[in-house]
Amino acid sequence: LQSRLPAVGTTVFTLMSNLAAEHGAVNLGQGFPDFACDPRLPELVSEAMRAGLNQYPPMPGAAPLRAAIAAKIAALYGRAYDAATEITVTAGATQAIVTAILCAVHPGDEVIVIEPAYDSYLPAIRLAGAVPVTVPMRLDEAGYHVPWNDVAGAVTPRTRMVVINSPHNPTGSILRPCDLDALAAIVADTDILVLSDEVYEHMVYDGEQHASVSRHPVLAERAFVVSSFGKTYHVTGWKIGYVAAPAALTAEFRKVHQYDLFSVNTPMQHGLAAYMADPAPYLDLPAFYQRKRDLFRAGLAGTRFTLLPADGTYFQCVRYDGVSDLPEAEFAQWLTREIKVAAIPVSAFYRGGRESGIVRFCFAKQDETLRLALERLARV
Ligand code: PMP
Ligand code: GLN
Repeated sequence: LQSRLPAVGTTVFTLMSNLAAEHGAVNLGQGFPDFACDPRLPELVSEAMRAGLNQYPPMPGAAPLRAAIAAKIAALYGRAYDAATEITVTAGATQAIVTAILCAVHPGDEVIVIEPAYDSYLPAIRLAGAVPVTVPMRLDEAGYHVPWNDVAGAVTPRTRMVVINSPHNPTGSILRPCDLDALAAIVADTDILVLSDEVYEHMVYDGEQHASVSRHPVLAERAFVVSSFGKTYHVTGWKIGYVAAPAALTAEFRKVHQYDLFSVNTPMQHGLAAYMADPAPYLDLPAFYQRKRDLFRAGLAGTRFTLLPADGTYFQCVRYDGVSDLPEAEFAQWLTREIKVAAIPVSAFYRGGRESGIVRFCFAKQDETLRLALERLARV
């Protein structure tokens, strides 16, 4: 068999989680909470199962869940997506991303991706037969930011899509309204689409607001906006997310979706729809995670690591040049084996593995877990 993805191996998240388990390390690598979700959530899913909601749901998603998603977006970001024609429930953000790319991008098209980039974007673009064009973020005293002039310079007549991600994995940076305006100016008179990965939309700190593409009048008209319940409700293993997009884009999305998945499991959709009636769980999330971020940052401040800003997501990036001059992947492995704390090398998010001496920690952990990791990190 001639591989469609010859350069792809096992993801860094799987590798580091396996290594952490093998060495009994505290796993601050792969991003997932080590605490339970709200017990009401599995209860609502069980209720749906017991009520007999166990057959295929409608292809685009259970109606109550699509209605709840549309209502949430309208309340938070002020755009009234039509639940019937503009919201589709997906098997996690991952399937939403692949499906959006496959439905919109043709062989030979170019897709601009900002690096460091979540690992699923490039393989999805390659499966579509398209060409990824990467633009690196800049890092200065204020943190990571997107150099929009470089993005504008990367546009060619073949550019079909720009992929953005805010809050951003792995850097923890966020896009602000001025960033979205800069992107809008680039795409305004073109037919370039936007894929906006907003899975960490409810993890923005220090009183800042998430700048959703769904709020932006120019961008929302040409965007697939993706989110995931896994991050928001502490259930990464449930793999349920959604995409919001104007009706014409959603129609094309669903042509692919009905054959690469057809539909997401029924009882979880009904459980989530009922749970969404209460906005408190996602409205309380910034305070919940900001406290963990601050606990983790305060602990790291007493170590030889250098903290980078962390405005959003549940990730904290650090420089380790005060500790080691190993390349990132080797350093992350050493930290896991010898110090017994697992991290993710940021080089894994760059095509070609660009080295910047930075690793990513996930702080979506119980306070005891964070304290144990900090005790160990203080020893290096
Ligand atoms: N995008 C980003 C930026 C992510 O961090 C993740 C989760 N690792 C995903 C997409 C995938 O989300 P899901 O688990 O819902 O497929
Ligand atoms: N999104 C998670 C992370 O960045 C990993 C998800 C996965 O393992 N594929 O850590």
